[in-house]
Amino acid sequence: MSGARTTTLHQPDSDDGGTGQLAARLAAVRDRIAAAARRSGRDPEAVTLVAVSKDVDPDRVLAAARGGQRDFGESKAQQLVAKRAVVPGVTWHFVGRLQRNKVDQVVGAVDLVHSVDRLELAQAIDRRAARAGVVQRVLLQVNVAGDPAKAGIAPRDLPALLEAVRALGGVSCDGLMTVPAQGVDPRPAFVALRALRDGLGLAHLSMGMSDDFEAAVEEGATVVRVGRAVFGDRTAPG
Ligand SMILES: *Cc1c(COP(=O)(O)O)cnc(C)c1O
Repeated sequence: MSGARTTTLHQPDSDDGGTGQLAARLAAVRDRIAAAARRSGRDPEAVTLVAVSKDVDPDRVLAAARGGQRDFGESKAQQLVAKRAVVPGVTWHFVGRLQRNKVDQVVGAVDLVHSVDRLELAQAIDRRAARAGVVQRVLLQVNVAGDPAKAGIAPRDLPALLEAVRALGGVSCDGLMTVPAQGVDPRPAFVALRALRDGLGLAHLSMGMSDDFEAAVEEGATVVRVGRAVFGDRTAPG
């Protein structure tokens, strides 16, 4: 819009390459998670903050790690491999759509794959895990609202997928993940995911992103995946 004032949101601050701003953002997100946990009678320690660093420079990921951030999430195998090589001593998560031909790059490289939504993918992870001599922890991604634009298994197909995944020796299914539909109140999806998780007796609930992580924590998230609120807005691709 012409005449609109520009904000500084997109630019790192000048003197320290954005490190001070990054530390402040991280602290603010941690505080908001803790407040949401306390509001709902939960232990703030029961919520893991995954800083989603997709399309973020490795230098900034390193700065966040030096500032004490432990868990990072990537949604592309190539970026995961590149950043893992230059940011040591942290825990990685894969949160994006995983192609079967990228499974070899991800299995064993991440603590948790959040986005298993079909048996063929779980089987590919299982085969790679067996070759690598690891058990890969995964979550099943659920398309709670049946949004055709989103990945994830339909709730009615979830018990059968879980049963099949549980039969795989190289995969450990520890919970559920969802990405709610855009433009609608995400809370009903969080409530529904929690009910599914409780019914299946699983431990973890990965839900909540920059715009809605407090609601997710209030509804029982054990893992929140926060990108923009930590690193600032992603620049447009290209
Ligand atoms: C990008 C991404 C996030 C983080 O989104 P923000 O809106 O930047 O917080 C979380 N989960 C998944 C699956 C993502 O792809």
